[in-house]
Amino acid sequence: MSTAGDRTEENETTRSCVTELVCQKCDVKLPITDMEAFCPTCGKCLDVAYDYDLAASRLRELPMSERPENIWRLSELLPIRGSHAQAQVGQFSGLTPLIPANRLGAELGLRKLYVKDDSTCRPSLSYKDRVVATAIARLLELGKSEIGCVSTGNVGTAVASLAAKAGVTPYVFYPNRLEQTKARACRALGARVCQVSGNYDEANRECRKVAAASGLEFANITLRPFYAEGAKTMAFEIVEQLGWNAPDHIVSATAGGTLSSRLHKGLVELETVGLAQTKSTKMHIAQPDGCSPIASAIIAHESEIHPCTPTTAAHSLAIGSPGDGYLVIEAVRSRGGSAASASDEEIFAGIDLLAVTEGILTEPAGGTTVAVLKKLAEAGELDPDAVVVAIITGNGLKTLDDHPPKPWPSMVECDSESMLSVLSDFQHEQAASAAQPLPA
Ligand SMILES: [Zn+2]
Repeated sequence: MSTAGDRTEENETTRSCVTELVCQKCDVKLPITDMEAFCPTCGKCLDVAYDYDLAASRLRELPMSERPENIWRLSELLPIRGSHAQAQVGQFSGLTPLIPANRLGAELGLRKLYVKDDSTCRPSLSYKDRVVATAIARLLELGKSEIGCVSTGNVGTAVASLAAKAGVTPYVFYPNRLEQTKARACRALGARVCQVSGNYDEANRECRKVAAASGLEFANITLRPFYAEGAKTMAFEIVEQLGWNAPDHIVSATAGGTLSSRLHKGLVELETVGLAQTKSTKMHIAQPDGCSPIASAIIAHESEIHPCTPTTAAHSLAIGSPGDGYLVIEAVRSRGGSAASASDEEIFAGIDLLAVTEGILTEPAGGTTVAVLKKLAEAGELDPDAVVVAIITGNGLKTLDDHPPKPWPSMVECDSESMLSVLSDFQHEQAASAAQPLPA
């Protein structure tokens, strides 16, 4: 049966060089028009394949100065074939700043440290805007008008926000123990929100059944191959922002494994199409102590993930059975790199360190990245002159309610004398603290 989406694909000029869906585990191939998200043989998530010769040729046709400043900048390497769908979603997503983190770098002994700041990604202040945008673009290609998701928090707000702009109805399924601000934001954005009593892995398993029984497309389940491709845009941007030079190291927190594995894929693709030399970039993986199935496998030199039951304050990283975990292991092994985990205390200290050095307020996932970055720097794993990019995936404004409380200042009289007295106390405390001088 022909749908509105099919007609859109046929009628519009496309730059995408997508060819088919493949299983990276057992090499099963399906046509890109197939609606399967998971390999019929082994059950792993299918991956999107491209004609890279064609992509290299098309990439040369259009200069960067004429390309859109959003996630569709290198649309040759994205799976959305209709420009109609691209015009409706993600127009203002991506191209977040790559910030020279000189004050954090001085603290850690790293002279060329950068922060890729997706805490400012539009519209919902996390990197999930990238992946949800490509998922919703695929949904629009299919001519459908409803979308579901299962979310530890940020996917839900991205789906709610991007769906609203695209005129699509969002349904969000949340596991228990997520940050309440994220659930409230989803509802404020008009999504229908269903909170379920299980953890993320249990909710994800049941949502697969809901998708099969209802026919509802889920951004991060039935549309997962297309969803995951959106994460590559971060790799494309980092390399372009470094003048088409790949960094020596990327440090990133991981939960389900989508971002880390697609950062790797994006780097490989840039090399394949001749845009940059990226083989030397090493990948470092950060997870919380209370949910580190990928990091633990890498540290133990194992190829299989042993699922765990998460117990961590970093709720957006609380995925005990990571679907793309095996791809992350392969990425770290093939490029070199490492993995480490951090305690909740270290994670919140990481949030504070990024805040007071770079003025970036991140959530526990970003705190995990900073905590592990600090460990790597202290262990001498990162050369002081290496180009290091730390990925900050989400904004701390959504998780402030879960941060350890700090003493609230007592109220003083509204007169300048009282206020001067408090200011004097502040200045004495500041002088006594171990505040570092500004780096030269
Ligand atoms: Zn397979």
